[in-house]
Amino acid sequence: MNRHRLDFAIVGAGMVGMAQTALLAVRHPGMRLALLESAPETAPKPAQHYESRVVALTQASRELLEEVGAWGEIAAARACPYVEMRVWDADGTGSVRFTSRDVQLPNLGHIVENTVIVNALRSRLEALPNVELVNGFCLESWWRDCGLWHLQSRGDQVNALEGLREQPEIVRTRLLVGADGVRSRVRDLLHIRCQDTDYHQTALVCVARCEKPHRHTAWQCFLKTGPLAFLPLAGLGDDNHCAVVWSADNELARELLMLDDRAFALNLEKTFESRLGKVESVTERLSFPLRARHAERYQGPGAVLVGDAAHSIHPLAGQGVNLGLQDVRVLGDEIDRALSRGLEPAHPSVLARYERRRRGDNAATLKAMSAFKSLFGAGQLHWRWLRNTGLNMVDASPMLKKRIILRAMAV
Ligand SMILES: Cc1cc2nc3c(=O)[nH]c(=O)nc-3n(C[C@H](O)[C@H](O)[C@H](O)COP(=O)(O)OP(=O)(O)OC[C@H]3O[C@@H](n4cnc5c(N)ncnc54)[C@H](O)[C@@H]3O)c2cc1C
Repeated sequence: MNRHRLDFAIVGAGMVGMAQTALLAVRHPGMRLALLESAPETAPKPAQHYESRVVALTQASRELLEEVGAWGEIAAARACPYVEMRVWDADGTGSVRFTSRDVQLPNLGHIVENTVIVNALRSRLEALPNVELVNGFCLESWWRDCGLWHLQSRGDQVNALEGLREQPEIVRTRLLVGADGVRSRVRDLLHIRCQDTDYHQTALVCVARCEKPHRHTAWQCFLKTGPLAFLPLAGLGDDNHCAVVWSADNELARELLMLDDRAFALNLEKTFESRLGKVESVTERLSFPLRARHAERYQGPGAVLVGDAAHSIHPLAGQGVNLGLQDVRVLGDEIDRALSRGLEPAHPSVLARYERRRRGDNAATLKAMSAFKSLFGAGQLHWRWLRNTGLNMVDASPMLKKRIILRAMAV
């Protein structure tokens, strides 16, 4: 594909960048797009093993993945619908049980491994004739000329076959979408600062095999040191595997990382109050430092941020990628609206409308996550009383439950 005058260039082939590319390509088959990713091309991961990085997809996210034609492959590969969610305070008597019956829906969402989503989006993008996937393109610098961004890759890659230094590659585009994650280069190049809060916690993730089946329930226990979630996984012969996301204060996380598998599994089982019986085995633990970040602006001349490049949040309510996919949908809708009115998709008013529509929702979710984290981290009696009473009040009110579920599902 001629990369001299693209309509859209998307930087970053994570879940959000891939979904954005697919949505724009499907809705505008006459336009030319490139998805630029710094990582080299990798073969799709085999499906015989579970991956420990998972997300809880809301109904709104599933609908977006359906629209771009990726949901069929995701559902066929591995997606676990969950029909119930149990939340409780480890330090008290408060608990809430949300079920799909509370909202008369078949499920509350799906737990899906990140690689399953990425594999499905990649095969969908490969089938779209107006998209070029470019791996090994690490955006380094840019300049703007005659309404086009000129994007230059880092020029220090060495060609493996010939052992020669490769010339930096240049891509030209009318609209640039930065989907390049928490350390976004696009955000830096736009001189956009970030509000940055260190949660002083680390998320440990792994897959646990439990003695009892998960019953298609997402379990979350709030400890003073951070939340511990067991999320049900689909298939591979039984219903006994769960993805574990344990967000713990940094010191505890360091100690947990140092334990051998057996000691870690015992600790996990005890902390989770043996709700699914014994933890029989665990896979390798991965760790992620947790910070909240919110970009002070989402856009600059001819360029816009989506997903973690614009905002990243605590995983305790499993909303990160769901917010990113809502950015994708709203940006897609604003571009449709602009084109139907004869406006350039990169027109400042289009990008400003996108930001206005998304900032409030993202900021409210970020605030709510920080408030939850503080409330459940507080050890004083009055806070403990407040959160336990609050959980029990929600549990006793079908109306409140319904509102919370529908808000979390973005329906
Ligand atoms: C432990 C944990 C649990 C989570 N659980 C959930 C959950 O249950 N539900 C949920 O909704 N969210 C969850 N999240 C959040 C979710 O994983 C993220 O919000 C999501 O992965 C962000 O996707 P993204 O595409 O915006 O960014 P990324 O996945 O970070 O993708 C960015 C891409 O950009 C590329 N890139 C970076 N710089 C450049 C450059 N200069 N040039 C070219 N390419 C570049 C990177 O290589 C990468 O491929 C969780 C996060 C963590 C840490």
